[in-house]
Amino acid sequence: MNYGIPNLYFVLPCYNEEEILRQSADRMLGLYHRLRDESQIGEESRILFVDDGSKDKTWDSICELHGEDPVFHGIRLSRNKGHQTAIFSGMMRGLEMGADCVITIDADLQQDIEAVPGFLEKYRNGCDVVYGVRDSRDTDGVFKKTSATAYYKFMKLLGCNVIAQSADYRLLSKKALKALSCYKESNLFIRGIVPDMGFKSDIVNFHVSAREAGASKYTLKKMVNLALDGIASFSIRPIRFVVLLGAIVFVISIVMMIATLIDHFRGLTVPGWSTLSISIWFLGSVQLMSIGIVGEYVGRTYMESKSRPRYFISEETTDD
Ligand code: UDP
Ligand code: MG
Repeated sequence: MNYGIPNLYFVLPCYNEEEILRQSADRMLGLYHRLRDESQIGEESRILFVDDGSKDKTWDSICELHGEDPVFHGIRLSRNKGHQTAIFSGMMRGLEMGADCVITIDADLQQDIEAVPGFLEKYRNGCDVVYGVRDSRDTDGVFKKTSATAYYKFMKLLGCNVIAQSADYRLLSKKALKALSCYKESNLFIRGIVPDMGFKSDIVNFHVSAREAGASKYTLKKMVNLALDGIASFSIRPIRFVVLLGAIVFVISIVMMIATLIDHFRGLTVPGWSTLSISIWFLGSVQLMSIGIVGEYVGRTYMESKSRPRYFISEETTDD
């Protein structure tokens, strides 16, 4: 299939990235011109920054960049909505502005931008989705490395088809973007949704380098939230697991009942204290855990049932 020369939009989510924004913008611009010169991307291609409610001078820098070169475009969310929502809003804005395809990449450019021609090649070969898959996790700390690997394994176990070691560095075609816009849940887990859409896809390997300035904006809390969103929005197996656990505990309790009755008739009831206290603790913990898991889903159902808007764009760079 021949797609012609596509207008590509790079979407970069930025949360308090003033320290690195300039540097990243320069590198992106270099790549942009190279791709333009090689006629790999069209004249209407853009570098779109999404300011995810930063508290520093990120938005001022974006406006400055736009003033210097209209290739840079920026939208600003009304407050910090998190990485997933930030990239989603950028992709939707790109679609509205006439993008033929979008590549999302972190504003710190830890992901190797030299992989972009590879993405475009797969796109030209007819892929609607191209995943960037990292070749190693050398730059992450031990905690992030092990927790991320365990998480991907766990997600697979739960039946959610995430692409292992793929972060949010990916290309989506216009077709895929339109499909993505049909997902109305406010609990966005793009990493799970994209494989779920089922378009023709491929992967491109890339290398991750260390952050050159600023600190990671992904706090532990944000990571845990992303992990829980991913699990609860893509699998109801935890609830089934609770039911299964209940059934197992029921069988155990019948065995315990028989054992206790036998003890009773043999006149050995006094030493039963330990059995009793163990049962109380065990059942108590199982119940609390089960209620907690069910609560996660009830809470999310509640939030989704309100179908609130996911984000608001408070400002946008304009040409005048
Ligand atoms: N980010 C965002 N909103 C947030 C947190 C992060 O838009 O609430 C952006 C951040 O500016 C960066 C990208 O998401 O461009 C990835 O974040 P970071 O580099 O801090 O994560 P890490 O690479 O450490 O996983
Ligand atoms: Mg980073």
